[in-house]
Amino acid sequence: MSVDIECVVVGAGVVGLAVARALAKAGREVIVVEAGEGIGVGISSRNSEVIHAGIYYPTGSLKARLCVEGKQRLYAFCDERGVDYRRLGKLIVATDDSQRESLQALFDRGRRNGVDDLQWLDAAQARELEPAVSCVAALWSPSTGIVDSHALMLALQADAEALGTVIALHTPLHSAHCAEQGFSLQLGGAQPMTLGCRLLINCAGLTAPQVAGRIVGLDARHVPRAYLCKGSYFTLSGRAPFRHLVYPAPESAGLGVHMTLDLGGQARFGPDVEWVEKTDYRVDPLRGEAFYQAVRRYWPALPDGSLQPAYSGIRPKITGPTEPAADFVISGPDDHGVPGLVNLFGIESPGLTSCLALAERVVLAVAK
Ligand SMILES: Cc1cc2nc3c(=O)[nH]c(=O)nc-3n(C[C@H](O)[C@H](O)[C@H](O)COP(=O)(O)OP(=O)(O)OC[C@H]3O[C@@H](n4cnc5c(N)ncnc54)[C@H](O)[C@@H]3O)c2cc1C
Repeated sequence: MSVDIECVVVGAGVVGLAVARALAKAGREVIVVEAGEGIGVGISSRNSEVIHAGIYYPTGSLKARLCVEGKQRLYAFCDERGVDYRRLGKLIVATDDSQRESLQALFDRGRRNGVDDLQWLDAAQARELEPAVSCVAALWSPSTGIVDSHALMLALQADAEALGTVIALHTPLHSAHCAEQGFSLQLGGAQPMTLGCRLLINCAGLTAPQVAGRIVGLDARHVPRAYLCKGSYFTLSGRAPFRHLVYPAPESAGLGVHMTLDLGGQARFGPDVEWVEKTDYRVDPLRGEAFYQAVRRYWPALPDGSLQPAYSGIRPKITGPTEPAADFVISGPDDHGVPGLVNLFGIESPGLTSCLALAERVVLAVAK
């Protein structure tokens, strides 16, 4: 097999772009192959655009560590590269006394995870921050923010390209064969071709398990099953009476139907939780009724008829609805034994926040 290029990154979402940039910064020659017509056409443009603080994830997990580290890196990167963001802060609210305990557990976990700026608020203090919100207690997370995810991806792309990275759009990876020197890749698109590379980094998001399943020479034991968990959003028509993000105490598969603001000040609610078999981004207007109920628990004055179906995203789960949520998986040569191969699985939230930290871990995984 002839080696045509040193590294191929599969997928030009926020993670693939951050990985390409980090590999290029480490002096590697990189091509990103992207099946879609542009960058960021997958999960990276269908999320809440929140820079998470790192409160929710089990202490010591990759999600916890890379979120806390990623948040710091991301704020610094946005400052450096002029990417629009706002450190709005967020309230996580207990709407009745039975939720105080879970809020306390979150507070303790956040502290253990290194989120050292969390504050416990009583109802009056929470009302001072957000007069429209009804709660018995709240956690205040000042380091939570929002970011323009597309501007972030453009900045990552620009950095990577300035270091010589090539981004090939309309170029799906069909299959790969492990060879002595690396990999032989079958690429589709207008001009299907075979490409040889030494390092192969799978950042294919929702289809990362399918892509890994088509790498001949990788033991199937190292490929998890993919589950799809859809989350729909509804936007608020009219002006939002909020200045900060507002989250309920968390639910099982997601963080609960929360209120986030975009950089233009538009409020949106979501995502809800719907396990699905295939990718279909249409938002069913009938789901709106459950949104009214969920939102009115913390914002009782939500007017009738004010929520409009907006968009949806799909969480790339690797455990099913009855299993505990999985951690991020960065499966490198030490795990599966194939030199030069890294598969990223289950990069759901907080993957946007963690992208720069994830990228550093990938660079380390192939450094040996
Ligand atoms: C509803 C929802 C809300 C979220 N909210 C937040 C949040 O507020 N904060 C946060 O930090 N994180 C959030 N996340 C998580 C975050 O959006 C993801 O972790 C992140 O966007 C994943 O990026 P990615 O690059 O791995 O995947 P993607 O953006 O999906 O990129 C993968 C790319 O690979 C391409 N691809 C797939 N197969 C192939 C192939 N065979 N060949 C070539 N290309 C291929 C796809 O076209 C796609 O462009 C949320 C996720 C969801 C679903």
